Amino acid sequence: MTSQQYFVDLHIHTAASDGIFTPQELVKQASLKGLKAIAITDHDAWDAIEPISSLAFKVGIEVIPGIELSTNIEGTEIHILGYFIDYTQSQFQERVLHFKNARIERAHRMVEKLAELGVRLEIARVLEIAGSGSVGRPHVARALAEEGYVGGTDEAFTRYLGNGCPAYVPKNFLTPRESFDLVHSVGGLAFFAHPGIENRDGLIDRFASQGLDGLEVWHSKHSNSQVKNYLDIARQKNLLVCGGSDCHSDNLMNNGGGSVKVPYSVVQEMKRRLANKKEKQA
Ligand SMILES: [Zn+2]
Ligand SMILES: [Zn+2]
Repeated sequence: MTSQQYFVDLHIHTAASDGIFTPQELVKQASLKGLKAIAITDHDAWDAIEPISSLAFKVGIEVIPGIELSTNIEGTEIHILGYFIDYTQSQFQERVLHFKNARIERAHRMVEKLAELGVRLEIARVLEIAGSGSVGRPHVARALAEEGYVGGTDEAFTRYLGNGCPAYVPKNFLTPRESFDLVHSVGGLAFFAHPGIENRDGLIDRFASQGLDGLEVWHSKHSNSQVKNYLDIARQKNLLVCGGSDCHSDNLMNNGGGSVKVPYSVVQEMKRRLANKKEKQA
């Protein structure tokens, strides 16, 4: 069998963030599906990597240590996947947690400011609306609309949450560029996650010039034509490709009905790129 016939799932969430997989369940499924490699990419978390790696090692499945970071640029949330990261480095962990906490703190402060204005929201509801995403102004805006304080989310921004408005709280977010540097600082590769959902392909050139290593081409929510499009873009710009299901609770290689088949060769390409980078640094 050639390596092309092996498959991988490089975008998996576990119970360490907003998924439901325990290490045992995940490794069992990966084994049943005959996967050669998996990457654990929890949101701002790495706790599942170690237990999964030791279980997977016993059944011959390679585990790539990963993470999914939430970044912001021009008001858009962009997710960046880091692969082959040395997540054990304390400086890395501190920075990831700093930005994660900054988002939650900001949501709390917005709710506090609203309360001072006589507008009462439950922070728990705001966090619930945010769900697996990173909490931010859109979720506060939806809670305001739900409670009938505003006619819609646009009004929430113009009356309360927009820059200079009474419940505005300045942000302290990770930018995509900072996330590339952060991933590189622990020896990893940075990928633009599910670009087909974000619909901001215009950013790819800028990201590439800032150090982005690749695109998530295969994703359970990408159409066949999007997959082809991102393969073309990656080829043109000498970017790596990766892919995964982004599953939180469904089957591996599957998420909400969309299935992905990602060849093991993408992992080999990543390793080649990392080896080249090391050679250049030496
Ligand atoms: Zn994502
Ligand atoms: Zn994800």
